[in-house]
Amino acid sequence: MGQTVDAASLTRWVREFRRAVAANRDLLTRLDSAIGDADHGINMDRGLAVVVAELERHPPSHVSVLLRDVGTTLMSAVGGASGALYGTFFLRMATAAGQQRSLEGPAFAQALRAGLEGVRRRGKAVAGDKTMVDALAPAVDALDVALAGGAGLGAALRGAALAARAGRDATTPMLARRGRASFLGERSVGHQDPGATSAALLIAAAATAFADVPG
Ligand code: ADP
Ligand code: MG
Repeated sequence: MGQTVDAASLTRWVREFRRAVAANRDLLTRLDSAIGDADHGINMDRGLAVVVAELERHPPSHVSVLLRDVGTTLMSAVGGASGALYGTFFLRMATAAGQQRSLEGPAFAQALRAGLEGVRRRGKAVAGDKTMVDALAPAVDALDVALAGGAGLGAALRGAALAARAGRDATTPMLARRGRASFLGERSVGHQDPGATSAALLIAAAATAFADVPG
């Protein structure tokens, strides 16, 4: 389709993610207060504010440098498990992007999958463990299927965002097997996972940022 993701559109993605997290900060914190330590919204909001400030101070012109900078800042500026996991996600995307100046749809999807694999390896969560993986994995799968079927990146990401939301909703009846929520055992059942909720925002932000990526 000739649609590409470059440093400017990646910056839009990160800014849109930051905006969505800020708008949902209290929701994320409320969800984390039910099955965690009530810091997910605060962690993510504060960390992403630093990420966006850094991008403004030093706007990277190279895709992998931008993704690496975002990952590194998330690692250090977001507290808790989610900082390490989202940091790993972006660092693995950076490695997958390599020297490419811009990413076509399939290369962007490959980078997202590399990010997901990084989260899986670092957190050792599998599908159904009630974590961000339960939103990210169906999104990445839906993106691949849509792109393989000939969809443009914007449309494919809209489908991926729907899949992420469905994955997020599916965490509610799950029993947590990873992270702080797992300490609650059966009492974690009946609550939506905060990390899956922020992960659905991440994919929705991509759908917004890359809706009209120029060819
Ligand atoms: P913490 O649990 O350290 O307070 P946060 O509250 O910021 O960190 O993030 C909690 C979210 O992180 C959870 O809702 C879950 O989605 C995700 N998470 C925690 N541990 C793991 C893990 N091992 N693998 C994948 N995701 C995890
Ligand atoms: Mg927490």
